[in-house]
Amino acid sequence: MFLKRIELTGFKSFADRTELEFVRGITAVVGPNGSGKSNISDGIRWVLGEQSAKSLRGGNMQDIIFAGSDSRKAVNFGEVSLTLDNMDKVLPLDFSEVTVTRRVHRNGESEYLINKQPCRLKDITELFMDTGIGREAYSIIGQGRIEEILSTRSEDRRGIFEEASGIVKYKSRKKEAQKKLEDTENNLLRIHDLVSELK
Ligand code: ATP
Repeated sequence: MFLKRIELTGFKSFADRTELEFVRGITAVVGPNGSGKSNISDGIRWVLGEQSAKSLRGGNMQDIIFAGSDSRKAVNFGEVSLTLDNMDKVLPLDFSEVTVTRRVHRNGESEYLINKQPCRLKDITELFMDTGIGREAYSIIGQGRIEEILSTRSEDRRGIFEEASGIVKYKSRKKEAQKKLEDTENNLLRIHDLVSELK
């Protein structure tokens, strides 16, 4: 699996639809300060479900929408699509190419799509779980993050190894199952109460 393409429209400094094609191997993005290099990696994290405006260097989520410049009016929505080569079927979908899209409108409405089909954020999170690509995963290391990883708490470091070893999805399913069990136990208690009230 590798990132083949990213398309940004109305996202941060990318007012017009901008498409970047990647090939296998190493790609370096170079450009003057403030030209939008980091906005590309922000775009990648955003599609993968980043929910923190602060970590995308904004005050709120609408700040990711192109806000206008001296020569251009602001736009009404921001959209980013990532296309991944999935010939090796690392992503559990029967497609050789997978495109994930996130779109947000000024009124706060937001949409997620997998291969143009609307989906939930959860579907995107689960799709990338244990692949190392998720928004919290180790494949995107932001400025200053290396130092943070080296000095961070051992539990946080363990999280990185858990993602790499592919057990995060099982931990997440275990958590969901435990929550369901708890809810069921609470429902049972409630039923017992009702039964004893009726007796
Ligand atoms: P450096 O090399 O200094 O790290 P960079 O190439 O990584 O810079 P970015 O930080 O990606 O640059 O881009 C910053 C630019 O993006 C700034 O000019 C900023 O005004 C612009 N920008 C960020 N958000 C928006 C937005 N919502 N609308 C318009 N422009 C934006």
